Amino acid sequence: MERICKKCGEPQSIEMFCNPSCKDGIGFICKGCKNKNRREWYRKRVELEPSYRININKRMRRYRNTSDVYKKRRESLKEFKSKYDKERLAGISKEARQEYARNYYIRNKEEKIRKAASYYKLNKGKRLEYARNRIISLGDAYIVNRLENKFKLKGNTIKQNPELIKVYRNCLKIKRLIKNQK
Ligand SMILES: [Zn+2]
Repeated sequence: MERICKKCGEPQSIEMFCNPSCKDGIGFICKGCKNKNRREWYRKRVELEPSYRININKRMRRYRNTSDVYKKRRESLKEFKSKYDKERLAGISKEARQEYARNYYIRNKEEKIRKAASYYKLNKGKRLEYARNRIISLGDAYIVNRLENKFKLKGNTIKQNPELIKVYRNCLKIKRLIKNQK
């Protein structure tokens, strides 16, 4: 079964029109177009109010911490893990377990140090570039987030005094330039 999308005019399979908020569960606009709309809307929203990006992340975090769905998922994962550990470690004495953990630590210590050193060397250029980009990309949303979290400024206060963003951006820029010089 196919349906023609009201937005892009392309005929597509009916699954692409799944929409629980419609009466029969099938909408008039395809998934691709809907996603495009949503992205566009989000982009405009963030442009209008840079702190929206942060607010939505906060809201998502709050949702994850309070929602029953996530709670159930966390609990079932915990249960599975404890069951799995019980089976895996059955018949192994406490001393043997500790011994294994100690040996594992010793075996991996040198390997870890070696890997870290080679990673550090390999990625020096990347790291410098990252530091440079961090200076260029001091976006509004990031600055607003810092102002809110570090100085406990309210979103409204920042909105009423947009020059704060400019000022703090320059402060951060100076700080980072000094750091990069070293
Ligand atoms: Zn479409």
